[in-house]
Amino acid sequence: MPAYDAYVFDLDGTLYLGDELLPGAAETVRALRERGALVRFVSNNVTRSPRQYVDKLTRLGIEVDLAEILTPTVTTVRWLQTNEPDAVVFPIAPEPVVTALTEAGIAVGQDPEVIDIVLASYDRSFSYSKLQIAFDAIWYHRRARLMSTNPDRFCPYPGGRGEPDAAAIVAAIEASTGATCERTFGKPDPAVLELALAGTEIPLHRVLMVGDRLATDIAMGVDAGAGTALVLTGDSTAAEAADLDPDRRPRHVLDGVAGIL
Ligand SMILES: [Mg+2]
Repeated sequence: MPAYDAYVFDLDGTLYLGDELLPGAAETVRALRERGALVRFVSNNVTRSPRQYVDKLTRLGIEVDLAEILTPTVTTVRWLQTNEPDAVVFPIAPEPVVTALTEAGIAVGQDPEVIDIVLASYDRSFSYSKLQIAFDAIWYHRRARLMSTNPDRFCPYPGGRGEPDAAAIVAAIEASTGATCERTFGKPDPAVLELALAGTEIPLHRVLMVGDRLATDIAMGVDAGAGTALVLTGDSTAAEAADLDPDRRPRHVLDGVAGIL
């Protein structure tokens, strides 16, 4: 594989699975840093804050700085601040997302009569009453728009299991209201990759996006004009990659991240 100037890693299914580091992950990141390459980490999992990701990666033996981690929480907050600073947001979301919204000064509320944006996310405490609030805000009061932090159907777990992710909650709201989710933050939006490299001079064609999911990691890399490497340690398979149109396929298919070296 050719050398790139920057390497952007997905986390779940790429560097670790659950609480288990994947083979060669720590050594690969360390070796790339020693070569002088820029390294960034991008996850669509919003159940942890960037600070919690620093703690997890450090515990697993990967040295990382807070500024090197990007999640849809960051891109969601930034978009709302720029485009809808006065909106009242109803987050169906885990605590780190709600905290980030309130810390950024974005109004958060549960009254369907004043909600402007229903933000569907990866919420393990999703309930019928939350669905009712979303339904009332979107369908009954005909005022709220539906958005989502990330498009993932499920989050992979070790041993082949998984956990339903934001797409399940989006689907419940769409099915009951007839609304369509109009914006999804996080991968595969190429803005995520651009934000991950903000402040650097590295052009996107000198960047390698490394991930286990074709529909998010690889699609984002392709759309951003970056190099792409699919690792077969998580969600997508080599057969699924081969089924894609040639211009959507990952440039490299690797058994694991150590293949980068
Ligand atoms: Mg992944």
